[in-house]
Amino acid sequence: MKKGLGFCLGASSVSVAIVEYNGVGFEVKQSSSVFHQGDPKVIFTRLLEKYYQSDMSVVVTGRKFRSLVALETISEPEATENAFLELIPDHDDFSGIASLGGETFLAYTLDNEGRINNVVAKNQCASGTGEFFLQQIKRMDLTVEETIEIAKDANPYKVSGRCSVFCKSDCTHALNKGTPKSEVAAGLAYMISEKIDELLNKVPKGKILILGGVTRNSVVMNYVRKSHSNIIIPENANSFEAIGAAIYGIKKGIKALSSLENIIIEKSTSFSYHQALQNFAHKVSFKPSKRSKAVSGQRCILGLDVGSTTTKAVVISEENAEILADVYLYTNGNPIAASRECYARLMQQLPDDIKIIGVGTTGSGRQISGIHAMTEGVVNEIVAHATAAVFFDDEVDTLFEIGGQDAKYTYIVNKVPADYAMNEACSAGTGSFIEESAYETLGIKVTEIEAIAMNGMKPPNFSDQCAAFISSDIKTALQEGISKDDIVAGLVYSICLNYVNRVKGNRTIGKKIFMQGGVCYNKAIPIAMAALTGADIIVPPDPGLMGAFGVALVIRERLALGLMDEGQFDLQSLAGREVSYRKPFICYGGKEKCDRRCSVSIIEIEGKKLPFGGACNKYYNLKGEQSFDYDKYDYVKRRHLLTFDVFAPERPLGTNPKRVGINASFHTFTLYPLFYNFFNLLGFDVVMPDEIDSEGIERENTSFCYPAQL
Ligand code: SF4
Repeated sequence: MKKGLGFCLGASSVSVAIVEYNGVGFEVKQSSSVFHQGDPKVIFTRLLEKYYQSDMSVVVTGRKFRSLVALETISEPEATENAFLELIPDHDDFSGIASLGGETFLAYTLDNEGRINNVVAKNQCASGTGEFFLQQIKRMDLTVEETIEIAKDANPYKVSGRCSVFCKSDCTHALNKGTPKSEVAAGLAYMISEKIDELLNKVPKGKILILGGVTRNSVVMNYVRKSHSNIIIPENANSFEAIGAAIYGIKKGIKALSSLENIIIEKSTSFSYHQALQNFAHKVSFKPSKRSKAVSGQRCILGLDVGSTTTKAVVISEENAEILADVYLYTNGNPIAASRECYARLMQQLPDDIKIIGVGTTGSGRQISGIHAMTEGVVNEIVAHATAAVFFDDEVDTLFEIGGQDAKYTYIVNKVPADYAMNEACSAGTGSFIEESAYETLGIKVTEIEAIAMNGMKPPNFSDQCAAFISSDIKTALQEGISKDDIVAGLVYSICLNYVNRVKGNRTIGKKIFMQGGVCYNKAIPIAMAALTGADIIVPPDPGLMGAFGVALVIRERLALGLMDEGQFDLQSLAGREVSYRKPFICYGGKEKCDRRCSVSIIEIEGKKLPFGGACNKYYNLKGEQSFDYDKYDYVKRRHLLTFDVFAPERPLGTNPKRVGINASFHTFTLYPLFYNFFNLLGFDVVMPDEIDSEGIERENTSFCYPAQL
């Protein structure tokens, strides 16, 4: 009897398998997979000590980490092929193998004998991977089992599969607009199944073996089965590569180990470094917060900031804007429940007969929370944050703000926002990214980040690329043996680097800089920002409450100027006010002749049914009984008319003119008249597509957004 121990050192987990050979065939005696939380060395060493027996060969496969182990190693395709040929009896009937892992999805094609002859890799985006799915359901406060249960019969809500950032925003916006969690969870599963579908379409027709952790998600796999009835998921799909490594060891007669000492090879790293954060602590001043006690019958204003990650509320005095009560909690994908919880917690801090004369809402969930509070005081975040900053110091001219899912830059002139920028294409510079990366990859809680990062003496310089690549960098750093302190400091730097390069860009930094947003409770972040910009930074009191405080200030001013009527808001009724959701309907555009076909939710509050959602403000305006002359303000339509008709007039061309095709994307909407007239005057017919050609999509080597595909 020969015995082999195999390991697969993956991006998120370590798999182990014990295989025996009885002279006729191989038998898997044991296999399991353990998440390594960014510490593969420890898990690997523990599993080796637990399972190793003195008559076993040991072989390792997996990612980069396998090169740090002083053991016989083989590549993942080699390990997969070994297990496939030995354990799948009808292997020559298969045309491919797909591996659906935590961080990458890839497929192998097979020759007639079942040997791997090509690797079809998917693109590098994290949005379609198992780990991304886990991150998203965690944001909804769901376990994998709960997700599978609620999603299995739900109608999938359409979420973007192009980029993890957009997918994440789609989920947040859907939840903020009242779409049930079950539909969002089903939408995520559906999006992942589409990624798998895309991958499987690259494999020639025939049976396909599916491996990896995603195979355990029955909702995803059921969607995949609808378009690929030919998929087979083997037993031990999650540790197939480790099994292959064990088989390889037996077949090659690899000798047993003489000792378990010195198995890990220490290596130098491939990163450049930043300076320690400690060196810049003197460049940031943190202002202390102050609270006053509310008195019986006091007239107050309530500000509510409903963000994608957290919801914040403050109650301020009408007389002098002092903060009397505040709340900071997670939105958990349910802005109304979060708002109600805020009201309930504020109630505990205030006298029963407090008089709330105005309520303002801001943040990404401001509209739904505004409807729930029955207030017209709905204000965007730029104005709310700038108002709060100017209240503390009227000389402030630059505002850096990093929120849960967005990052903003605002330039203030004469106390009003004059320029601003947002993170449009990347989540890497946001609070939820640092929180998720630190927790998902390193098992570090958000509250622990500051102390750990400030200890880092040699933070590695991670890229300022997309969230997916930074996560890979963290994993590489771990695998290279860089300390957790340094990695966390590097992560803090990477968020600020991303902000400086991608959000602020080449915009001005003025004379007085405020940095606010919930991330500033983690002092390491403003310190890293000061290190990168070279500027002195002020963090105002309660940096995470600035949105809520700012909207309360705006309402206070509107009331004082008579721009809003005074109301009577009772915290108990607000906290107890239930909403229910009715069946959504499809908007057919109405007189605006819009063809987006948005799904519009209906919420019912105190017997009143209100349509809510859609990509435009149509239903929001209906609620406020505002009506607009859409034709007059439809500048998109006017621009279209000027670009494609007025400045590109039809001209008679000779018979059979040559034809030039121009794609209908991006700059074409600005430069079309130039190119049209140029080619047209040379006698060419100029054509532009109306729709995407499916053949073109199949020929893409990577995914593009809709405008680029056109
Ligand atoms: S909600 Fe607005 S964007 Fe959506 S279909 Fe209706 S009119 Fe068009």
